[in-house]
Amino acid sequence: MVAFKNYVAGEWVDSSQAIVNRNPADLADVVGEYARGDKALVGRSVAAAQAAVGKWSQATPQERADALDRIGTELLARRDELGKLLTREEGKIVADGVGEVARAGAIFKFFAGEAVRLGGEKVPSVRFGVEVEIAREPVGVVGIITPWNFPIAIPAWKIAPALAYGNCVVFKPAELVPGSAWALTEIIAHSGLPAGAFNLVMGSGAEIGDTICGAAGIDAISFTGSTAVGAIVRRAVTERGARVQLEMGGKNPLVVLDDADLPNAVGCAINGAYFQTGQRCTASSRLIVTAGVHDRFVAALVERLQKLAVGPGLDPASEMGPVVSEAQLAQDQRYLAIGRDEGARLAFGGERLNRPAQGYYMAPALFTDTHNAMRINREEIFGPVASVQKVNDFDTALETANDTEYGLSSGICTRSLKYASAFKRHSRAGMVTVNLPTAGVDYHVPFGGRKNSSYGPREQGAYAREFYTAVKTSYILPI
Ligand code: NAD
Repeated sequence: MVAFKNYVAGEWVDSSQAIVNRNPADLADVVGEYARGDKALVGRSVAAAQAAVGKWSQATPQERADALDRIGTELLARRDELGKLLTREEGKIVADGVGEVARAGAIFKFFAGEAVRLGGEKVPSVRFGVEVEIAREPVGVVGIITPWNFPIAIPAWKIAPALAYGNCVVFKPAELVPGSAWALTEIIAHSGLPAGAFNLVMGSGAEIGDTICGAAGIDAISFTGSTAVGAIVRRAVTERGARVQLEMGGKNPLVVLDDADLPNAVGCAINGAYFQTGQRCTASSRLIVTAGVHDRFVAALVERLQKLAVGPGLDPASEMGPVVSEAQLAQDQRYLAIGRDEGARLAFGGERLNRPAQGYYMAPALFTDTHNAMRINREEIFGPVASVQKVNDFDTALETANDTEYGLSSGICTRSLKYASAFKRHSRAGMVTVNLPTAGVDYHVPFGGRKNSSYGPREQGAYAREFYTAVKTSYILPI
């Protein structure tokens, strides 16, 4: 018997195999054992979702809004408890864990509103006497595959619009963070949805994720994760003609110009590059700094890094928690070696840290004397590692910022309206910030990138309806 089971067709389903969920801040702390699904269970969940589509897609907008509102209300009421759970399994500091649960609650409430706001259009026909209507309908069954770094917000920003617009869901969370996914499922399970409208199947990407992508009964897949896995998902899903949306990696630039407010720029860099242990797709891993401020910026950044408190996320004094897993820590350390081999100067940190409990702690790392052709500036590291590049002027800064295969977010720190406007206009990223960190976004506006960071329509806000609804045009001759 596994304590935390999968949820299929409105029932909790046991498994003989478990995912052991450990706290990266204290490896002796087992968060729980979670049921590992298999291919057959994916098949059952797809069938259950297909069977529920009729009922849920016919539910009134008010019924859908009420269910989503109940989910949002419970998430908000339990934000402290669930925020702690999230911190225990992912490692981020508890304020961020609690904030993330609150954000998930706000997202469900936003999409509760969207369920009743979804309208259509009536347009004049070019033919005499004919009426034309454009309506949005549910797509059907949506497969949702999510990463470990936002264990409740990312599932929320996919599940909420899927359900709001009348779709049924098969959800596979990342293996490292089944706890938040299970807690969210438990809340959804008593929100009043018909059995089968929402299903949870936990397990590996290679088995469960791959089976979901190939399942003929799944009409659309929304995926967030690495660019490498995103490419596999895209091939598998487009090959069988289903709809796919991908949010993937980033190598986001933060440009700091000579005229920047220095303390604010340092704050943006610390937040963007190191908060949440640098494990954000929108993290500012490339700090592109003009020559006049470069030395002062690096000195101030190092001074702040020396004081950055690294410790368990549950300790309120910690500003940065551990790395999420042994594999991710090994990757971070590997890139430190790559950076040194490439000739970058390690200006601060990078070493593994000991804390009273055994966990995956490392000091935030800063490289200087780097250039944009180095692997540390081209490849996503996904840890608390950032590098500074010195450039001569705004034009070179912009060119360097855009010289990347990714295009998720980008930022500039400047007091010049001219440069801020030019950056906003010419940055080839899906999201641009001015005098703000590249990470940390609102929940009611579109989220997504360009180039290898994203594929398909935007997520979040009212723009989410592009992916989660199918457009139908009707012609009527009233006789
Ligand atoms: P990952 O790509 O390893 O895994 C993501 C999900 O895909 C997991 O649930 C995993 O089990 C599943 N998966 C793995 N192989 C699969 C396969 N063959 N078929 C189907 N599913 C499969 O990513 P991760 O390590 O969990 O997360 C980190 C990555 O996510 C980073 O690259 C980060 O930039 C990215 N990310 C992007 C965004 C965004 O919105 N752009 C947000 C958060 C994280």
